[in-house]
Amino acid sequence: METRTIPVLIVGGGPVGLSMALALARQNISSLLIERNSGTVLYPRTRGVSMRTMELFRQWGNADELLREEQPKEARRFIWAESLQGPEVTRTFIEDEHLQAFCTAQSSFVTQNKVEESLYHTLMHCPNNSVEFSKELISFKQDENGVTASVVNRVTNQPELIQAKYLIAADGAQSRIRQQLGIEMDGSSDLGRYCSVYCELDISKWTQHRPCFGYFFTDPHLAGRLLLSGDGPNRWIVFMQFKPTESQETFTDDYCMSEVKRVINAYHLPIHIMHKSFWTMGAQVAKEYRKDRVFLVGDAAHRIPPTGGLGMNTGIQDAHNLAWKLAFVLNYQVSDSLLDTYFEERSPVALRNILWSIENAKRYVKIAAALKSGNLEEVTNEIQEQHKNLNFEGLDLGYIYHSKAVISENDQTLSKSASTYVPTTLPGIRAFYIPGMEEADLFEKEYVLLIGESGSAWQKACIDLTLPIPLKVLRIPNNWPEKYEISPNGAVLVRPDGFIAWRSIALTVNPKGTLGQVFKQLFDF
Ligand SMILES: Cc1cc2nc3c(=O)[nH]c(=O)nc-3n(C[C@H](O)[C@H](O)[C@H](O)COP(=O)(O)OP(=O)(O)OC[C@H]3O[C@@H](n4cnc5c(N)ncnc54)[C@H](O)[C@@H]3O)c2cc1C
Repeated sequence: METRTIPVLIVGGGPVGLSMALALARQNISSLLIERNSGTVLYPRTRGVSMRTMELFRQWGNADELLREEQPKEARRFIWAESLQGPEVTRTFIEDEHLQAFCTAQSSFVTQNKVEESLYHTLMHCPNNSVEFSKELISFKQDENGVTASVVNRVTNQPELIQAKYLIAADGAQSRIRQQLGIEMDGSSDLGRYCSVYCELDISKWTQHRPCFGYFFTDPHLAGRLLLSGDGPNRWIVFMQFKPTESQETFTDDYCMSEVKRVINAYHLPIHIMHKSFWTMGAQVAKEYRKDRVFLVGDAAHRIPPTGGLGMNTGIQDAHNLAWKLAFVLNYQVSDSLLDTYFEERSPVALRNILWSIENAKRYVKIAAALKSGNLEEVTNEIQEQHKNLNFEGLDLGYIYHSKAVISENDQTLSKSASTYVPTTLPGIRAFYIPGMEEADLFEKEYVLLIGESGSAWQKACIDLTLPIPLKVLRIPNNWPEKYEISPNGAVLVRPDGFIAWRSIALTVNPKGTLGQVFKQLFDF
């Protein structure tokens, strides 16, 4: 049987597997990605790409392709109406313009198929990686030297063995790899069942005067039904929550067609159903993200209710967190224990995002209760609360890592609010952008020590230190030290993923000794 050897094997070509391959390629690590389907996904699924994810896409080079697909700015909102043709009750919208001072990108509302396409196109321009469709992982085994995966070509039925130093499970919520590793999940596996019907229909006469990315209805007969815009002017997704008496068998093509007609209240309009998908809302985090040489990323590691639009975003940021760590272990032979910080850092983020998504779900339930009560003021108030669902800048930009890869300080000053982001440079948090400091160009392949105009002693210390990992010193002009909460002779150490590892408010007596201690603590050098 044919056997190939590669540094990293990625199983699953969803948004997270593709991001993993891209993030590794940018770290000069070769990978092979296998996907059992014959291409990237063809139907929309998600809509929301967060600011932090868009910052990564900007760095990776696929943001522009995505932004060309975006809906017009005024459509960045949800509309609540009695029905599609009925009067509007209220609208909720995104307010993130004020964040442009700290962020290199804005959130975006493109569908998952477009995200996958853009990641795939960008990946194809990177050297040293390959993506093979119609290849399915059947099983694997691992020892101290690597992983051997048994793969089958779904077109030719040809079996194959692939040897890799590391295996990345980006194989989704039902992850076969996670199951084979025996890793359990904490949380609820079934919070409700849904069918998403992706269809083509021209309802512009009811929508063009109030474009948005989704319509919620207050008509009690439409409870559990939601209309979302798709990846083109006449493409829509109708979300249908299973009623207690319904099962997957209920959702025949005829039933879905009649439900779509009922939702739009138009019975003679031509409708083409392009795809139906069934999904179960889960809220779970894996008890471990790593077993020796195998790592879980994305939905394989956590199931986040879509009521927050965070599942894909969290997964892509997992991949970004893991990629530079793998690269440092493979390229600079740093201690393998760096890889343990992946779980320490990412699983609390998944849990926080799950809890927030559940809060959102509860807000929807409150609306349903208010609708039942018939009290219009209560309904409007509860819908206004939905504003929180779209504005989660604190959650997206303000989370903090605690692990051996960070020299933490007391973080009592950190804002814990999901809806408000307060810029800070506490170690463990994302280094925010300030004008003159293009994050996309600064942080990726090496550690960066940011110094101010009076920071020459830190620069000399870095030259005198001999480290086995890449470290770059950058002097940022103007008043950045003040914004970065340090004095002009202080320093901030930023990791390759743009997160702050350590900071010194002012110059120390022995900067070389201080930095030596910092790297000793971070890497056991
Ligand atoms: C209705 C809905 C709306 C959502 N909205 C949002 C949103 O707005 N924002 C957001 O961030 N998230 C959203 N999500 C969540 C998002 O869709 C998922 O979190 C995301 O798809 C996870 O990506 P992934 O790559 O980890 O897994 P997947 O997308 O599930 O990809 C896994 C891939 O692995 C492949 N695979 C599995 N097993 C094997 C094998 N043995 N061999 C080879 N290949 C294999 C599968 O074919 C699949 O392509 C939404 C989800 C739903 C259901």
